[in-house]
Amino acid sequence: MRNVVIIGSGPAGLTAAIYSARANLLPLMLEGKEPGGQLTLTTLVENYPGFADGIMGPQLMEDMRKQAQRFGTEVVSDFVHKVELKQTPFRVHYGDKVVESKTVIISTGSSAKLIGIESEVRLMGHGVSTCATCDGFFFRGKKIAVVGGGDSAMEEANFLTKFATEVNLLHRSETFRASKIMVDRARNNPKVKFHTNTVVDEVVGSPATGVTGLKLRDVKTSKTSTMDLDGIFIAIGHNPNTEIFKGQIEMDERGYIKTQDNSTRTNIPGVFACGDVQDPVFRQAITAAGSGCMSALEAERWLEH
Ligand code: NAP
Repeated sequence: MRNVVIIGSGPAGLTAAIYSARANLLPLMLEGKEPGGQLTLTTLVENYPGFADGIMGPQLMEDMRKQAQRFGTEVVSDFVHKVELKQTPFRVHYGDKVVESKTVIISTGSSAKLIGIESEVRLMGHGVSTCATCDGFFFRGKKIAVVGGGDSAMEEANFLTKFATEVNLLHRSETFRASKIMVDRARNNPKVKFHTNTVVDEVVGSPATGVTGLKLRDVKTSKTSTMDLDGIFIAIGHNPNTEIFKGQIEMDERGYIKTQDNSTRTNIPGVFACGDVQDPVFRQAITAAGSGCMSALEAERWLEH
């Protein structure tokens, strides 16, 4: 029987682990498929307070993990495939094991969205990627595209110019969700070419040849065109990782777990949610970490009472 089981190991989960471990609750953290979460897929993090010159995302997460372990967090590299939250104690299934716990902190984050065409899935890892940091290196001296109009797309387009000779930014709308400073940075980069009102109908290529091109469509004129290139990065946002909680816990229409105002409490007493899994608005490492702290403090209070 555990006091606290934390599902997910991004900034939210790790901060919850640091706080609950320092409160002597001996938390168990189940890391999930992507230990460290989305920050391990980024490069320089410039907006996490305390690092005046920035810090690399993977380094930040490694440091948080060490900090959590220093105070007694047990970290297990396994994936939770089932939870039972309609009974107490709660039961959490991972690998071939099951653990019982008085409280559960859900910090499973969110995952990259895809455009929704068959060819992007078929060619994933063969020239299609959702992670510039992971795969940018493979496109040294190549021509590529980035899909999206948010901060992620701008950031990835800029980052990829370190490797690629030309980065085509393909955005389905005319206006950008990205902040002005990020759009300006991409626009001022001579290697980035903007194509607005443009959607990808098909990624051309095969697993043997890799990506060789794109079939594009102008959404205003319906005119189609082709573009020869070697790779495409999809940077169009994320979906919350809440599949295993469906039917057991209250979520909004997009699948984000609902939490109460000024709290990380869910509709189930003793179950708390923090980080991107309950935050479609801010989605920053620092807000995730802040809500992870709230979850740990609320779990501690709940156990006391
Ligand atoms: P986002 O802001 O939700 O933007 C998603 C973009 O992808 C939108 O431009 C959207 O187009 C487009 N899109 C969505 N579905 C599409 C589809 N099926 N086909 C083609 N295009 C599609 O997501 P994000 O850029 O990942 O950013 C998420 C959050 O993280 C934001 O709050 C952002 O500020 C933050 N962030 C910050 C930084 C930073 O400050 N360094 C870096 C990365 C992310 P429409 O506009 O037409 O809907």
